[in-house]
This record gives sequence, structure tokens and C-alpha cells, in this order.
Amino acid sequence: MKRRHFIKAAASTGLITSTSLTSATALAKSTATIKWKMVTTWPKNFPGLGTGANNLAKLITQMSGGRLKVKVYGAKELVPAFEVFDAVSRGTAQMGHGAAYYWKGKTAAAQFFAAVPFGLTAQEMNGWLYHGGGLKLWHETYEPFGIIPAAAGNTGVQMAGWFNKEIKSIEDLKGLKMRIPGLGGEVLKRAGGTPVNLPGGEIFSSLKTGAIDATEWVGPYNDMAFGLHKAAKFYYYPGWHEPGTTLEALINKQALEELPADLQSIVINACKVVNLDMISEYTTRNQQALDTLVNKHKVKLLKLPDEVLDRLQSLSDEVLNEVAATDKMTKKVFESFKSYRDKVKLWSDISELAYLTSR
Ligand code: CA
Repeated sequence: MKRRHFIKAAASTGLITSTSLTSATALAKSTATIKWKMVTTWPKNFPGLGTGANNLAKLITQMSGGRLKVKVYGAKELVPAFEVFDAVSRGTAQMGHGAAYYWKGKTAAAQFFAAVPFGLTAQEMNGWLYHGGGLKLWHETYEPFGIIPAAAGNTGVQMAGWFNKEIKSIEDLKGLKMRIPGLGGEVLKRAGGTPVNLPGGEIFSSLKTGAIDATEWVGPYNDMAFGLHKAAKFYYYPGWHEPGTTLEALINKQALEELPADLQSIVINACKVVNLDMISEYTTRNQQALDTLVNKHKVKLLKLPDEVLDRLQSLSDEVLNEVAATDKMTKKVFESFKSYRDKVKLWSDISELAYLTSR
């Protein structure tokens, strides 16, 4: 508005200069409607994750007054779930929504920006990304692919998963074929299990038919939506492998840079809004769904034994150290992540943890 007033005032006083003409041209350009596609790794409209992507698209469209319209595509609508990264990288879609650990085949460092076994909680993850150097490293990691990443949602602590047998010792994980992506999957492999990476939409049928023995997905809200309680008996916590999973927005770098500065800011800041909104939604819906699962569907809720968690933590340390040695970028990300985790733990232990255990 200010710029428009200035141009109007300048025109009325006959003071149009080359600078203000340039501004007028930019203004005219910036009112044209730009259409973007957002491909996602989620089934269309899937509660929390798919709807989070929808919210992001809606927000960008609204905040830009319709100058930038974003259309969302569910998994398989334009590209399959695990081709989202490539689609954004080559510009088939200008945006994507998914989770960074799906791209470990592109760059091992990506995994640290989604979820790390025994890593950071949602709040700590945001601390690392926004104020601890994490986001800068994420940009650097995706730079070779022409993608700008942004945190765009967080599920909070996930559940350890659904099993058809009780897990009483680490031995019970041996030979277990389980859907568990990313670094958590590597840890399971180390414990003698067989990790499988399946997109969300294929989990229920795989578990029901016995193609897999166990699965993790997210937490009560999302797991109930897939009906996982109809395919397995035991529901274990805590999600040691995903303590605060960050969802991501992928933005084609060239497409972003071609936008006027205000639209660029809208895209980036809409991601922040969705990042906050999703964790708030999960906090509310998880407890509602947990109540339904336990009281209505009579799901057996169990905690993984401490000795199993201790062993998984030692195996996680081994896995993280090995993954860190993959390449220079991964090592750099790992070191920043690890240093942040060690330091923030001192504060989290006497704040969140001490408070929660005393409540
Ligand atoms: Ca998960």
C-alpha cells in the first residue's frame, strides 16, 4: 500500500522518476497470479500430515491475496510418495511436503533434519533449527539439489509401534520385519530385525496380510486413522526412534527466487505457521485418539522395557557415528546436532523433564 501511495503521490506531483517507474512495473508484475504445485508424500487429505500440507498451501494462497496459488497433490496423484524430492528438484512441482529421512538415498545428512533416534524433542528441534544453526546446515545440505528446505510441521514424540507379539527383551526384535524408516530402521537392523521403508498408504495392508510383522507410523491420531489397531494387538511406547519428527516443505530454489520479495517471505513464514500449528494439533488429537484406542478399541498399551531402550540407545550411538562418516556434509550436520543435543539436555532435564515428572 505504501508503495502504491508513493507512486500515486509522485504521479500527481509529476515527480515520476525511473526508480518509481521500476517500482510500478514490479508492482504490476507482482499482482499477476502465479500458480504452484505442491506434491506430497502423504495420502491426499490424510489427517495431520496431508491436512498440514493443505493448510500450508491455503495459507500461502490467502496471505498472498491470491497472487500465489498453491495446489496440493497427494501421493501418486502427480508423482509417487518417494519421488517428491526429485520432482521438486527438477521443477516438475515448485513445492513438496514430506519428511527429510525419506531422502537418505540422496544425501545421508538429510536424516538429521527429520528424526534421530534418542535425538531432539519437537521443541529442541525447533531450537536447533531456528536458533542453533540447524536450518543453515539444512539449506547447505539441499543446495546441490536446487531445493530450499523449511520446517513445516512436527508430530512430537511418536509411538514405538504396533506389534503382534510382546517385546520383553532385545531378542524379541530378532528376525522382526518392521516398517520403520530412516535411522531408526538402521538401529533395528543392528538389533537383528529387518527394516522396511513403506509409504503410509501401504502400511495397513502390509501388516494385515503379514507381509510385515510390525510397524511404526506416527502416534494415536494418525495410527487410528489407518486402522492399525485392527492389524496388531500391542501398542508400544515411547517412540525412541522419532522423538520429535520434523516435517518439511521442499521449495524449488529457482521458483522461490523468481518470486517478488514479499511472496518469498510469505512462503517461508507460512511454513513457520504450519510448523507451530501441526504440533499443537497433534498434542490435542493424540490424547483424544489414545483415549478411543484404549477405552473403545481395547488396545493393549505397553512401555518398552528399560533394558530394551538402553540397548537400542547404544546401538543408535553406533549407527549415528557410522552414518556421520558417510561424507563431509553428514559429519558436519551430525556434529552440530550432537553438540546441540548434549548442551540442550542440561537445560531440558532441569526444566521440561523435572517439571513433567513432578506434575
Ligand atoms: Ca514414524
